[in-house]
Amino acid sequence: MSGEMTPASWDEDPLLGPPLIEEAALQTRIRALGAEIARDYAGKQLLLVGILRGSVMFMADLLRAIEMPVSVDFLAVSSYVGRDSSGVVRLLKDLDHPIDGLDVLLVEDIIDTGLTLSYVLRVLRTRDPASLAVCTLLNKPRSRLIDQPLKYVGFEIPEEFVVGYGLDYNQRYRNLPFIGTLNPSGVSASRAP
Ligand code: IMP
Repeated sequence: MSGEMTPASWDEDPLLGPPLIEEAALQTRIRALGAEIARDYAGKQLLLVGILRGSVMFMADLLRAIEMPVSVDFLAVSSYVGRDSSGVVRLLKDLDHPIDGLDVLLVEDIIDTGLTLSYVLRVLRTRDPASLAVCTLLNKPRSRLIDQPLKYVGFEIPEEFVVGYGLDYNQRYRNLPFIGTLNPSGVSASRAP
């Protein structure tokens, strides 16, 4: 982003297109997901596993919406450069604690091709959790290359690149409180070297 002007507000950002999911709609859906998870896992030892960095906002709000004791851990994977998937997934940071015997809920920001999810599930399955399920805020079913069962889905969205609420475009826009889209003309201009 060096050498580029930083707009003073989101309204003035030429790269940002119209919002796809407003903040209020996100929060309402997340409260409903939290209540559903608390009902389904009542009396169990639930561990929420977030995938850094995209899931942090969702994780923070989802945690507060689950009204029962849970524990939290994070792992980090790398798979994307800009808007393109290289298809290569690497584990950059592992969990801090073992998960054997725990009910594990993997918390993802978005499932696109499914490559990241499939890799992470494969790694976690070898560690003998009591159960392993997935909660994703966003799902792009039309981009799927590898299908995995998703227990909780916040929103199904079209095959379009989205930013905000933890999701980035070249590390930008993670702090938008809503899910936004990118303006295609602005993106191609900004990607030129
Ligand atoms: P997948 O492996 O293709 O399913 O992609 C999963 C990861 O790619 C997500 O956790 C995001 O970090 C990133 N990703 C996929 N689609 C988008 C998008 O529309 N905006 C921002 N990041 C995305």
